Amino acid sequence: MIVPSGSGPALRRARSTVAAVLVCVGAVWAGSLVQAQSAGAPASLTAPGSALVQAERLRLRVPPGMLPFPVDAGSDCYILDNFGDGRSGGTRLHEGVDIMGSAGRAVTAVVDGTLTKRYTNTGTAGWGWTLYDGATDITYKYFHLTADPNGLAQGARVSRGDVIGYVGSSGTSSPDNFHLHFEVRPGNVAVDPLPLLFVEPTGCGVSPPIR
Ligand SMILES: [Zn+2]
Repeated sequence: MIVPSGSGPALRRARSTVAAVLVCVGAVWAGSLVQAQSAGAPASLTAPGSALVQAERLRLRVPPGMLPFPVDAGSDCYILDNFGDGRSGGTRLHEGVDIMGSAGRAVTAVVDGTLTKRYTNTGTAGWGWTLYDGATDITYKYFHLTADPNGLAQGARVSRGDVIGYVGSSGTSSPDNFHLHFEVRPGNVAVDPLPLLFVEPTGCGVSPPIR
C-alpha cells in the first residue's frame, strides 16, 4: 500500500483514511495498478460501447469500488505517483496525483455529484472544479483545466462520466505542462487517489513513487 512519507496531523489522518478506503475496495483491488491494467478485455468492451451512453459503458468496465479514470487519456498520458510529495520547500504536501499529457482532452466526473466550487484561475489551482458526492461525503478536486467550463456552472449536478472540462495548464502549471491535478478527499481529508483509479489496459503509464 502506498502511504505518504510526510508527517503532521492531516497526513496521519489521511493514512488511516487510506487504510479504511483500501479495506473497502480490497475485494477488487490488490494494491497493484498492474492488476488493474490487466483486468477487463478491450475486445468485449468495444462491441457494446457504440450503442451505450458513456455512463453505461463506465458501469460495465469499472470494477465496483473503483473510480473511473478522470481523463479521456491521450497516447502521451502518464501518471505521476506523487501524493504526499513536498511542496513550497516542504511546508506542505501534494494532496493529489498529477495526470500528465492529454492536452485539451475531456475531463470527466468520477461520481454523481455537485460541482460545489468553480476555481477561476485566481490561485494555484488555475481553472478547476470541486465535485462533491453527498452520499459518501467525498470531495474530488480537479485543477489546471482550460478556461472552458463546458457549459457548466457552480452548483450544477453532474453524473459519473459527464465531461466537466478539458486538460489545460492553468494556475501554477507552466504553459506547456498540460496535466490534471486530481484529489480524492473523504471527509475533506486528502487520500492517495492512485490505488482507487481504474486505469484501462490501454491507459496511462505510472511513474515510480515520488515523495
Ligand atoms: Zn498536482
